[in-house]
Amino acid sequence: MEGEWINGWLCIRCNFEVPFKAEAIGIDDFGIYFICPRCRRRNQLESLGHRNGALLLRQTGK
Ligand SMILES: [Zn+2]
Repeated sequence: MEGEWINGWLCIRCNFEVPFKAEAIGIDDFGIYFICPRCRRRNQLESLGHRNGALLLRQTGK
């Protein structure tokens, strides 16, 4: 098992797993983020650039 890849992001407040979906991602002056559908916490993401035509995003833990 690789371990590196999971199927979604984990909300840093409630640990709810949010599936990777383009609709879940928002971008504003502060950067890229997704909003947890359960507790509405904003979870910050950072871009790692493009690979194979897809934008790679990583959680920053903020
Ligand atoms: Zn949450």
